[in-house]
Amino acid sequence: MNKKSYIYLDYAAATPTRKEVVKVMSPFNAEVFGNASSLHKQGRLAKKALEEARTNIAKVISAFSKEVVFTSGGTESCNLAIFGIAREHDETHLNKPGHIITSRIEHPAVLEPIKLLEKNGWQVTYLPVSREGLVRLADLKQAIQKNTVLISLMYANNEVGSIQPIQEIGKELFKLNAERKLQGLNKIIFHTDACQASGYLDISVKSLGVDLMTLNGSKIYGPKQTGILYIKAGTFIQPELLGGGQENNLRSGTENIAGAVGLAKSLELAQKEKQATTRKLVNLGKLCLKSVLKNIPGAKLNGPSFESGLRLPNNLNLFFQRVKGEDLVIYLDAKGIGVSTGSACASQKSSTSYVLDSLGGPAEVSGSSIRVSMGKDTTKHEIEYLVKSLIDCIKLL
Ligand SMILES: *Cc1c(COP(=O)(O)O)cnc(C)c1O
Repeated sequence: MNKKSYIYLDYAAATPTRKEVVKVMSPFNAEVFGNASSLHKQGRLAKKALEEARTNIAKVISAFSKEVVFTSGGTESCNLAIFGIAREHDETHLNKPGHIITSRIEHPAVLEPIKLLEKNGWQVTYLPVSREGLVRLADLKQAIQKNTVLISLMYANNEVGSIQPIQEIGKELFKLNAERKLQGLNKIIFHTDACQASGYLDISVKSLGVDLMTLNGSKIYGPKQTGILYIKAGTFIQPELLGGGQENNLRSGTENIAGAVGLAKSLELAQKEKQATTRKLVNLGKLCLKSVLKNIPGAKLNGPSFESGLRLPNNLNLFFQRVKGEDLVIYLDAKGIGVSTGSACASQKSSTSYVLDSLGGPAEVSGSSIRVSMGKDTTKHEIEYLVKSLIDCIKLL
């Protein structure tokens, strides 16, 4: 195996910053370095670039510029959404404690803030998911209470690639919130974590019907530590970071102009290319799966089928009988292929996956699966080499 041709198949964990993005960012490192709050020319140049990036992002997601708040990434946006809404509720509402609905398979950036609120007295419903990793609308409707304040559901799952019916839920909530208004109840706020979705799915906040949406740069060939929280006009939310009052008082701190410009570019390109990328990766995914199932007895795909249209096109989460997922990752790495067990965030913590466990399959699935996540430039040759290596590794193991 030639060292130079390492095959990276962990794009759900991180993507390289694409050249178009590096190019638009480069002036904002050395030449245009001003503080966007300064009145002089350097400041004005920075401010102009920042606001252009904001406008471009707003256009892509069908929002108004003032509804886009720049953050340091998906984690911060999710924390801002959840704590921001919870603190606003605690300060202004009498029907305490508030109630939050989420799912068992959210990213830790959503689950951990919610667990902390739960410790502090909030009520939480963790919705179960089907064997495919999908939330059921009926379960959600049943979970809604008088004191429900927030629903936070990811658009697409980072481990098994399942795509939640966000648009359908948005429509349902629209009707429900109209009824609640007549009853004098609070509007239920709907947040979606769309970090894994933005390279493949429609992220128009209008059609999704969400009040809050988290996006980041690191999964779409943009810069790491960049993200936004979309906050629908009229949604009141408390800031997490206090200071100079930047970002409309919602996120203080000197703005990351290069990051904002890079994120805007990466989002624009990801959305522009999403159909073509989807078509290509669904074909590669099906090819890979077919070959794996044919050559490795007992292998299975975790999560929805490609045919269902409810699976991210770049995600292959595969179960192999009597093999430890971790061992397989190490063996494949030695062969020059980078894949992962579950998510990047979980792999430091434990050898099983709470996401796979939540799908309710046989117990061994969780410790014996790997996630292969393809990228826009993944080739058929790379996938063929992967399958060949998988066959070899599993024989050895
Ligand atoms: C990567 C990811 C996050 C965290 O985003 P960061 O930019 O790394 O903070 C949150 N949610 C999902 C679904 C993700 O894939």
